[in-house]
Amino acid sequence: MTVVNRQKVLVIDDERINLKIISDILREDADVVLAISGEQGIRKAIEYKPDLILLDVLMPGLDGYETMNRLRHDVRTSTIPVIFITALDDASHEEKALLMGACDYIQKPLNHNIVQARVRLHLQLTKQRKLLEQLANIDPLTALANRRRYEEFIVREWQTAIQHNECLSLLVLDIDNFKQYNDCYGHATGDKVLKRVATVLAGQIKPGEGLVARYGGEEFVVVLPRFSQQEAERIAKKCMLDIEELNLSYSHQGQTGQVTVSVGGVCVSPLVGDLVEDFFDKADSKLVEAKNSGKNKILWFHSHELDISVK
Ligand SMILES: [Mg+2]
Repeated sequence: MTVVNRQKVLVIDDERINLKIISDILREDADVVLAISGEQGIRKAIEYKPDLILLDVLMPGLDGYETMNRLRHDVRTSTIPVIFITALDDASHEEKALLMGACDYIQKPLNHNIVQARVRLHLQLTKQRKLLEQLANIDPLTALANRRRYEEFIVREWQTAIQHNECLSLLVLDIDNFKQYNDCYGHATGDKVLKRVATVLAGQIKPGEGLVARYGGEEFVVVLPRFSQQEAERIAKKCMLDIEELNLSYSHQGQTGQVTVSVGGVCVSPLVGDLVEDFFDKADSKLVEAKNSGKNKILWFHSHELDISVK
């Protein structure tokens, strides 16, 4: 799991002296990024993805409220917590800021300890929120992405593929004879098999290339954006080979064998109106066919319904 060591705070204020004062207060707790205007602040928020933004209300050009409004309406910045900083002591301004979604409101003149304490509190909350988000997306046994994360990822990649007219490949893999393995050696050993298979799958793609997730039970998915069928098949074959080479053998009711996987695959360039659910079903139906026709093989979905076993 990624551990964020040092958090980032973006300070947006039109007066250099304020930027200096605030960065001196925060330097101990975070990396500080400075912006001298609302426009520059929005650009830096997108570029640096800070954990927290301190935003001055009174600025020429884009004032704090308008800056906040734009940050909230951009998906790249909409969830970053914002603390307003202002010399205005009218309660209506504080109310307006909080209603716009500010997480806090600090008044000038700045008190060193108050600024530090509030920023520390919000950085801590941000850290906890990110950790919870990570945990909500991870399968605890294998540390792979879980089905929830897969479903978010595939919808996003599906939309991207439609937008840019790109192909998208999906592999659905299932460990063969896993029930026999569990019956033979117990669930603790079965869990070890799941972990080892997960490690093999995770090792097949580089970070940012795609997503490997545990779909449920002994079923896994590999999403490969912009991978042609040929490239995806190469990954699938490598997965099968590496899993066989783990040499996880079993012997059950007179049957002996090694742990293998069956794979169903699909590659499409989706069009507007195509359904992402059908995409999964196509790969999954090929997986079922692979299981029913001897296991330890890859079957690929073809739009013209000609399925070719490539093993
Ligand atoms: Mg100002």
